[in-house]
Amino acid sequence: MDNSGKNVLVVGGGIGGITAALELASCGINVSMVESGPSIGGRMIQLDKTFPTLDCSTCTLSPKMVEVSLNHNIDLMSVSQITHMARKGPGFLVGIKKNPRYVDPKKCTACGTCSEACVMKDRIPHEFNMMLGKRAAIYMPFPQAIPQKYLVDPERCLFVSRGKCKKACMDACETGAIDFEDKGEELEAYFDSIVLAPGFDVYDPTEKQELGYGTLPGVVTGLEFERICSVTGPTGGDMLLNGKEPKRFYFIQCVGSRDRQSGARYCSRVCCMYTAKHASIVKDRVKDAEVYVSYIDVRAYGKGYDEFYKTTQENGALYIRGIPGEVVEGDGCLVVRVEDMLTGEMREIETDMVVLATGVRPRKTTAELCDVLSIECDDYGFIKVDAVAPSQTNVDGIFVCGMGSGPKDVPDTVASGGEAASRCMEYIVKGTGS
Ligand SMILES: Cc1cc2nc3c(=O)[nH]c(=O)nc-3n(C[C@H](O)[C@H](O)[C@H](O)COP(=O)(O)OP(=O)(O)OC[C@H]3O[C@@H](n4cnc5c(N)ncnc54)[C@H](O)[C@@H]3O)c2cc1C
Ligand code: SF4
Ligand code: SF4
Repeated sequence: MDNSGKNVLVVGGGIGGITAALELASCGINVSMVESGPSIGGRMIQLDKTFPTLDCSTCTLSPKMVEVSLNHNIDLMSVSQITHMARKGPGFLVGIKKNPRYVDPKKCTACGTCSEACVMKDRIPHEFNMMLGKRAAIYMPFPQAIPQKYLVDPERCLFVSRGKCKKACMDACETGAIDFEDKGEELEAYFDSIVLAPGFDVYDPTEKQELGYGTLPGVVTGLEFERICSVTGPTGGDMLLNGKEPKRFYFIQCVGSRDRQSGARYCSRVCCMYTAKHASIVKDRVKDAEVYVSYIDVRAYGKGYDEFYKTTQENGALYIRGIPGEVVEGDGCLVVRVEDMLTGEMREIETDMVVLATGVRPRKTTAELCDVLSIECDDYGFIKVDAVAPSQTNVDGIFVCGMGSGPKDVPDTVASGGEAASRCMEYIVKGTGS
C-alpha cells in the first residue's frame, strides 16, 4: 500500500514514541516527532541497565535513537511543543512551536569547544544526571543525544536571559554555528492521526520528611541511583557517594506508590523490579556490600522477573517485610528504623546509603497537552484508555502508548508502541477509504 501521502504526529520521543514512530515510518508513513526535551530517549536513556537481563540500557536504546535520526520518513523536532489543534475531517490541524536551540544544526560538529569556553561551565545542575553534577549553558545533554548537536539553555545563558555576557562560546566556535538571533519557528500542519507518548515523572519524596530525602546526605531516589551507577553519569560509573564508596545499602520500595497519603493508591509496576536490579548491581560491583530491601510485597509479574528477584535474594540481598517509619542521622551513618512485619521485631539498621524507589506519576505537562487535544485523563492524571483497546483515547484518531496511560516497564511500553502504531494505521486506512 502506498502510504507516502499520509502524515502522523508522534508526541514524545521516549522508547514508546520511538517504537511507534519507527513502526509507522517502516510502513511508508511520514512521521513528525515532537519532543519537548533537547534529545529523544526519555527516561530509558537515563537508566544504567534494564531488568531482568541487566542489558546496558544505552546499548539497547541508542541504535534506535540513531535510526530515528537517519530515517527519511521521520522529521524530528526537539525542544518543541504542541500549541493548538483543530479537527479537520478525519484528521487534525496541529500547531507546533519549535523553540530556538541558538545553534545551527547544519553547522554544529558537536566538538564541545563552546561548552569548555562558556562562563557558566560546571555551574548549572545537570538535569540528565538528576541534578547531580554540573554542565555549561551551552551543552549537549548526554554523549549519545539525538540530535547530536549542542544547544543553549535560554534560562541559564547569561546573554539570552540577561544580555550580560561577552559570548566566549561564540569566539570559541570555529564553524560559526552559534546564532543568538535564532527565534525558533511556529508552524501548522495537517496530520491524519496522532500518537501520544508523553511518558512519566517520578514522585518527589521531599514531602515524606521522615525518610530524609533532601535533608540527609546519602538518601537518594532510584533514578538518581541509576545515574550514579552509569558510566555516563556524574561519577563516571564509580559507585561513589560524596567521594566515598558506600558499603551498606538500604533500598525502600513503594515510596509514593500504593499510598493514600501521597495521592497514588496504584502500584507503579516497575519499582519492585528496579529495586531488585539495583540490589543485584550493588552485590555485583561493591565487594562485601551489605544490602537490605524493605517491601510491602514483591510484584514480579513479567517473564523471568520472579527468577531474577529470587536470584537477587540468593546473592545476599536481605528482604525485610515492612516500610521504615523513619531514617535518621547516626554516628557517621544513616539509621533506618523499621518494623519487620514477619517477626514483629523493631529494628534499627545502620547504613551508608538509602535508595528510595519513588513511584510513577503522570508527566507534569500531560494535563496541558490533553487540554489542547481534548483528551480525557483518569483520576490520577494518566491518559484514559479503552479497556479492550489499550491505545484508544476518547478522541477518534488519537492514540496513546507507554507510561502516558499508566505505569509500564520497557517491554510493555514497546508492546504498547507497536499496538498504537497498528491502530493508527487501521484508522488512517479506514478514515480515508484507501
Ligand atoms: C528508576 C527507574 C528504573 C527503571 N528501570 C527499568 C528497567 O530496568 N527495566 C524496565 O523495563 N523498565 C524500567 N523502568 C521503566 C522505564 O523507564 C519506562 O518503562 C520507560 O521509560 C517508559 O517509556 P515512555 O516512552 O513511555 O516514557 P518516557 O521514557 O518518560 O519518555 C517520554 C518522552 O516524551 C517527552 N514528552 C513528554 N511530554 C511531552 C510533550 N507534551 N510534548 C513533547 N514531548 C513530550 C519526554 O521529554 C520524554 O522524552 C525504570 C523506571 C525508573 C523510574
Ligand atoms: S556550537 Fe560550535 S563549538 Fe559548539 S559544539 Fe557546535 S561546532 Fe562545536
Ligand atoms: S553567551 Fe555566555 S553564558 Fe551564554 S552560552 Fe555563551 S558563554 Fe555561556
